[in-house]
Amino acid sequence: MRAPGWLLRLEQRFAQREDRAGVLLFVALVWPMLGVLWALQWAPLGRPEVAAAYAQPQWVWMQAVHGAVLVWLLPVAAHAWWWRHRGEPAAWLVQLTLVPAMAGLAILSLGHGIKDTPMGMLMLVTFVIGRALFRYEQIRFALWLTLGLIMACEVAQWAGNLPYAFLLTRPVFDGHPLSPWWSLWVRVVFLLATVPLSGVLFLLAWVLMRRRLALRALVLSDALTGLANRRAFMTQLAREAHRHQRHGRPLSILILDIDHFKRINDEWGHATGDEVLVQVGRLLRQHTRERVDLAARYGGEEFVVLLPETDLQGAQLVAEKLAMRLREHPFATKGRALKVTASMGVTQYTGGDPDQALRTADRNLYQAKEAGRDRIVASLS
Ligand code: GH3
Ligand code: MG
Ligand code: MG
Repeated sequence: MRAPGWLLRLEQRFAQREDRAGVLLFVALVWPMLGVLWALQWAPLGRPEVAAAYAQPQWVWMQAVHGAVLVWLLPVAAHAWWWRHRGEPAAWLVQLTLVPAMAGLAILSLGHGIKDTPMGMLMLVTFVIGRALFRYEQIRFALWLTLGLIMACEVAQWAGNLPYAFLLTRPVFDGHPLSPWWSLWVRVVFLLATVPLSGVLFLLAWVLMRRRLALRALVLSDALTGLANRRAFMTQLAREAHRHQRHGRPLSILILDIDHFKRINDEWGHATGDEVLVQVGRLLRQHTRERVDLAARYGGEEFVVLLPETDLQGAQLVAEKLAMRLREHPFATKGRALKVTASMGVTQYTGGDPDQALRTADRNLYQAKEAGRDRIVASLS
């Protein structure tokens, strides 16, 4: 399944870890959360039964601080948007975003009581979002400030200087059934926390999976030719050898080494040498069975092809076809014909140590070189 464009762009933002993009995403995720909460907190104005739940003047102060954080984040986001194409770090902008948002939310959470309400979860969400978008060093100050506020509050409560849930006249959960207001409030706060948290966690898991697949592809492929590398070849050889031992299906190996490649490098330059390797790689891929055979760069100017379901005779035919294609191929050169040939060693695996079969193929290659190059030597292993 192909990922939609917006998801790929989001992934790119996560991958780039660019400060301004991080600030924008952080505000885009956290501002609506804080905004809904702020709007919700106006309810005491019209309803005496809700107003009775909040302590005064704490409520007035909290709405003012909460509103100030919301207003503050707007120019910060606007600045990040305006300068979004600037690549250089903006450490101060990150701090100006994270510190008010996280500290403000901590005070709001402490005011409502962090132990019995979903406000604690809301704080956790901002930690996770912050950490997903920024490096630890960048969120460290806001994180420790938040933890410090919580600790200070705990100490003050323990010393009897501050009531638990100081914004309220009594805690949300105090043993009585929840009033209609508190049951609505708890549900809204719970959703405000869980929806973005799940979204961010799913996105992170997806990004990590794609990273893992990309790294795997990188670890198993050859940078120059894009073919499988030696590691991928050895893994596949072990697997196919096992399949041969279980089911007795024929399996052959072909080793190909370009003739006098050193001369090509010396006469035409290293860049042309590289280009020849790329084109040989392409020929190998074109003239072997897709998803069945495995062509790999074994090292330097040496290639290997693993040929499952192929006996020695079949493998020899493949080798001859490859040798012919190589001889005919017009290697791109500056007006001069560049002839490339290769010697090949072929063997059919007949059980036992697959490394031994590789050694046999290599020995055959050596004999092909000895016998004058541009030829194929084949034998059972
Ligand atoms: P032979 O016919 O006996 O195989 O001779 P040869 O010159 O092909 O073999 P030799 O092993 O003497 O030299 C291989 C050369 O391949 C030497 C090395 O510099 C070159 N080579 C190895 N890897 C690369 C590469 O990635 N790019 C380029 N351009 N050259 C490479
Ligand atoms: Mg060579
Ligand atoms: Mg060689």
